[in-house]
Parts: sequence; structure tokens; C-alpha cells
Amino acid sequence: MKLVLLGPPGVGKGTQAVNVKEHFNIVHLSTGDILRSEVKAETDLGKQAKSFMDAGKLVPDELLLQMMDARLRKPDCDPGYLLDGFPRTIPQADGLEQLLEAMGHKLDAVISITANEEELINRLVLRGKTSGRSDDTPEVIRQRLEVYRRQTEPLLDFYSSRKQLKEVDGIGDIPEITERILEVLK
Ligand code: AMP
Repeated sequence: MKLVLLGPPGVGKGTQAVNVKEHFNIVHLSTGDILRSEVKAETDLGKQAKSFMDAGKLVPDELLLQMMDARLRKPDCDPGYLLDGFPRTIPQADGLEQLLEAMGHKLDAVISITANEEELINRLVLRGKTSGRSDDTPEVIRQRLEVYRRQTEPLLDFYSSRKQLKEVDGIGDIPEITERILEVLK
């Protein structure tokens, strides 16, 4: 099973990703998590990514595409994967499409989890109290939502026109939302 999980910050992508990857026994690739560990390890990539991340901006497409090219070619990805937080721009989606084609892979579906903005801000502000993430502060949250609307939302049309998009309502209990996701994948 090869999946992309799309949705605004705070919609619960990370939480749902864990449940979905366990269900299908596939790897969960969160580009946010990968980048945070690169920052922590002070690698070249981490050093280049940090200032963008702290400002709530996107790390340049080229860096993400190189990182994901290397990651998706690892053997643990052969049985399937769940991409969480990637692609996030049209150039990334184009790059991913080319990469998948070169590897002979095909996405089974792109799941878009939705929620209204008020709910998202409430959840992110709450998360910011315990997450320790430097980008969960009110100004950076606003910036990240704005970046999502401007740069990532166009992917909904991109994947919808390819008949790959499945929308799932992200308001409700965690297990209930997982069920909705598994249902649209049947
Ligand atoms: P996330 O944990 O998915 O909210 O990602 C945290 C931050 O990592 C984002 O605000 C971006 O700065 C960076 N990031 C993660 N994924 C991507 C991506 N696909 N393209 C560009 N930047 C990304």
C-alpha cells in the first residue's frame, strides 16, 4: 500500500499516520520528523532546513526531493509506505510523480484530512503547550496555516484531477477517523 496523507497543520496527520501504518504494516515517512532529526543531529541538511522550519516556512523543494529520493529507494519502502507531510507543493508533487515512475511505483491513494481553521488553531495552540516544538507558537502557527493554504492546498486539485484523492472528515475521535480512512481505502 502506497499512500500520501495530506492536510493542514494540526489536523491530526501524524496521529492517523501511526494507526494507518500499523494497519498495513508499512513505513511511515514524516518529512517533518525526518527534518527535525536532521536539525538535532546538526547535519548539513539540518543546518540548511532549520531557519525555514523555525519561521514556519517550507524548506526548499530541491532539498526535500533529494531527501525523499534517497529515502524511497531504501528496501524497507518496497512493501509500501505512508508519506506524511510530503509532497507539500506542486513542484514536489511533480518530482514525486517522476520519482515513482522511475521506480515503477504507483500511489494507491492520496488521503486528504479536513477540519475548519478554528479547530486547527485550537489544537495547535494546545499542542504547543506540551510538544516542545519551536514552531508551535501562535505567530508561527498562523504562518504555517497560510503556507498550507497558498502552497499545499493546490495539491487537492492536482490529485483530484488524477482521480487519486480521497477526502476524510478530520473532526471526531481518533479511532473513528482511522476507521473513516480505512473505509475510503477499501
Ligand atoms: P510538519 O511536522 O509536517 O508540520 O513539518 C514541520 C516543518 O518542516 C514545516 O513547517 C516545514 O518547515 C518543514 N517541512 C516538512 N515537510 C516539508 C516539505 N514536504 N516541504 C518543505 N518543508 C517541509
